[in-house]
Amino acid sequence: MTGLDPRTRPQSITVDRPSAQLQIVWQDGKTSAYPLRWLRKYCPCATCGEERGAPNSDPLRLNAGPPPSTEIANAELVGNYAVRFDWTDGHGAGIYTFAALRSASEAGDFEPEKLPPGLGI
Ligand SMILES: [Zn+2]
Repeated sequence: MTGLDPRTRPQSITVDRPSAQLQIVWQDGKTSAYPLRWLRKYCPCATCGEERGAPNSDPLRLNAGPPPSTEIANAELVGNYAVRFDWTDGHGAGIYTFAALRSASEAGDFEPEKLPPGLGI
């Protein structure tokens, strides 16, 4: 029953628009803040995953449109294990599981100043 693990169960979820962050207070007391740009960049839906994996696979596909929105219009819980966002450009297919969000927070994946493993002293 990993779904009952307090480390992957949020006590509160807040979209803080002024700081452009998603803030999650977990039931074990830890607080995580996720930049919305990071969340959008790593949108877990299949379409975004393909675009990240093969950005130049189709030479006929042009990236002429506006950049993806990094503003959240709406957020909703998916069961008790994930959250889904509607971005203001209409994209809303990505489901972010709490387990993945928590482990990204533990790893500091979204902190640009964090050195990749192996580059520390
Ligand atoms: Zn997506």
